[in-house]
Amino acid sequence: MNDILPEESGTWRLVEEIVRDVIEAYGYREIRLPILERTEVFARAIGEVTDIVEKEMYSFKDRNDESLTMRPEGTAGMVRAGITNGLFHNQRQKLWTVGPMFRYEKPQKGRYRQFHQFDVEAMGYEGPDIDAELIILCARLWERLGLGRLSLEINTLGTPDCRAKYRAELVHYFSGVKNQLDEDSIRRLEKNPLRILDSKNPDMRELIAAAPVMIEHIDAEATAHFDGLKSLLDAADVPYTVNPRLVRGLDYYNLTVFEWITDALGSQGAVCAGGRYDGLVEKLGGRATPAIGWAMGVERLVGLYEACGGIPGLQDVDIYIVAVGDGALALGFAAAENLRDQIPGLKVELNLGGGSFKSQLKRADKSGAAYAVILGEDEIARNEAGLKPLRSAAEQENVALDALAGTVKARLEH
Ligand code: ATP
Ligand code: MG
Repeated sequence: MNDILPEESGTWRLVEEIVRDVIEAYGYREIRLPILERTEVFARAIGEVTDIVEKEMYSFKDRNDESLTMRPEGTAGMVRAGITNGLFHNQRQKLWTVGPMFRYEKPQKGRYRQFHQFDVEAMGYEGPDIDAELIILCARLWERLGLGRLSLEINTLGTPDCRAKYRAELVHYFSGVKNQLDEDSIRRLEKNPLRILDSKNPDMRELIAAAPVMIEHIDAEATAHFDGLKSLLDAADVPYTVNPRLVRGLDYYNLTVFEWITDALGSQGAVCAGGRYDGLVEKLGGRATPAIGWAMGVERLVGLYEACGGIPGLQDVDIYIVAVGDGALALGFAAAENLRDQIPGLKVELNLGGGSFKSQLKRADKSGAAYAVILGEDEIARNEAGLKPLRSAAEQENVALDALAGTVKARLEH
């Protein structure tokens, strides 16, 4: 679980603001959700026989002996909230949220126990047009962030009908090689054989590679949906690869699944992953509602932004006020408030804790401010302030106190 320090949080904010902007440009609205949910919300939504539910959840009993879990992902809570608040009754919803997620994982670069996700979900849309929109939105986001080295993989998991037939084939195949399966896979063979395909165990790789693939078993409905998506992506010039082995680690998906992957971050290359989960609302107690969404890892997104040479988001102040001598501090407070009043958004730091002229100027320099406003005895006697550029060789100028805000504004706009 990481501390995100001021040196990094500026870039986080810059990236997050762009993500918000792009998501909202498509008409999605923000929803804010609790971090704790009843454990059963995740167990039922994600599936009992998944890595997350079996080994990764932070669950505990509260004082009322109720089992609660710190959310490991956003979709289950979003669906729960939609049901609780009646958001899906004769309505369609396009929603997004962002925040911390918790999974007891083996920490490594790009994989943490508290991490952050943007979640974008659409409920009530059944056609492939929304699938395409959610993917096209990502492509626009990469462009806005200046990200390269991302590729899109898509697959279809079929309809429940063809999935049942495929499931039977998988069971047949894996039962034939049961003596080569690891412990997890043997357990999954009974309860959820599709999960075996998502195994991270390298020893299982060959067996999985030789397993039958879903895409060869899909029915006409699933084919039409998948073709619809592909033709919309083609028309929008969004390149993709069909990866028949792409399954995703959660149980609730059907039809479309996709992942945006990069080779720029080492082994944790999945930046955004999503898919359709038409059965989930009903499974959690709501009325049957088609739905699709994706989740984007913010740590990986920020990492990729940096790897692609994105400009850092700085949290420097604009103006640092140096106040030395009798009455300077009170005047400094007034000048700072006046600047904040006159120039909305301006960041003004007033030197606190005293110090010599020299040491205050040093702090001004370190603050990253573009200008120091100097209130010394001479300046105050003349009812003036010194305005000293800190990032250029330009000369200091003296400005009448009542003209300070106007001059600062003009210089900063310059
Ligand atoms: P993986 O197979 O790598 O474990 P996953 O299927 O568990 O991924 P999702 O649940 O689909 O991942 O999460 C969506 C995105 O959230 C991932 O693509 C990734 O960017 C990010 N993410 C998931 N788990 C972590 C983590 N532990 N630390 C940082 N980011 C994560
Ligand atoms: Mg995982």
